[in-house]
Amino acid sequence: MKVKNCPCHSGKAYVACCKPFHNGENPSNALLLMRSRFSAFALCIPDYIIHTTHPGSPEYSNDRTKWKRSISSFSQETNFEGLEIIDFQERGNVAVVTFIAHILQKKRDESFTEKSFFEKIRGKWYYRSGQLLKGSAPNLMTIGQMRLLPLAYYGNPILRKVADTVPEITDAVRKLVGDMIETMDACDGIGLAAPQVHHSIQLFVMRAPIENVKGLGVVKVFINPKVSEPSVEKWTVSEGCLSIPAIHADVARPSEITIEYTNLDGKHVKERCSDWEARIIQHENDHLNGVLFIDYLSEEKRGELEPLLKSMDKRIHDGTEL
Ligand SMILES: [Zn+2]
Ligand SMILES: [Zn+2]
Repeated sequence: MKVKNCPCHSGKAYVACCKPFHNGENPSNALLLMRSRFSAFALCIPDYIIHTTHPGSPEYSNDRTKWKRSISSFSQETNFEGLEIIDFQERGNVAVVTFIAHILQKKRDESFTEKSFFEKIRGKWYYRSGQLLKGSAPNLMTIGQMRLLPLAYYGNPILRKVADTVPEITDAVRKLVGDMIETMDACDGIGLAAPQVHHSIQLFVMRAPIENVKGLGVVKVFINPKVSEPSVEKWTVSEGCLSIPAIHADVARPSEITIEYTNLDGKHVKERCSDWEARIIQHENDHLNGVLFIDYLSEEKRGELEPLLKSMDKRIHDGTEL
């Protein structure tokens, strides 16, 4: 009798490897989930991909038909030649799997290296996001100690609290800042406030994009910030928030502000900021006061978004519709 090898290239039979997961069993860790998602892509099971994608993922879509179609077409155009696991780390409710997917598309080598992030909600693992590099490039992926922090999502009361002052810059604060920067970068964010990672303290980090420059801007750390002297002139741009995934809306804010804060070295700084810096500072500073960008929307626009916000809150906190 011939057994069918699992498409996740474990060397095991499909029935003894990924099939139970595709049939509804919960993978007990993120590595098993990663493998079973790889084999679901290979076998073209879009429903499995959808049901194991975190509702906070940038890939999550409310348009199921379109999402299914795009997964199916990827599956059909691709030969899944091999899977190499480079690294797997799990801590509490977050995990990272780094792997090389050897794939062919139209007979061309389209292999890629990915660092995937996973988050556990109510005991079940979900894929959240991934950083991708073309080709087989394990040496270009930084595989240090995993420092990702779980995010607080819309509906979590911590996002509505006024955060406490940071009394002293301790080693714990410095470590938190390092973890926040890694989390912000992993999620492709340009700013992240401490309450968004479950710490109700007056602290945020920012990596403002540099106009016309590719790559990352410089990280700045703001402790106990005070924003003042907003310009009369306002600038409207579409904003998003890592705690309110998949929702973007135009927000008008003063184009310039003054900020006073303590930096990570304990130095008191006072600066006049404009453009993206002013925008991000105002958005993140709001988080320290329990304010979210959606609070600025017109009643009409807010009403339009309300069903989406409700269903996201339910998906993340009650597990319905997942
Ligand atoms: Zn498998
Ligand atoms: Zn935000």
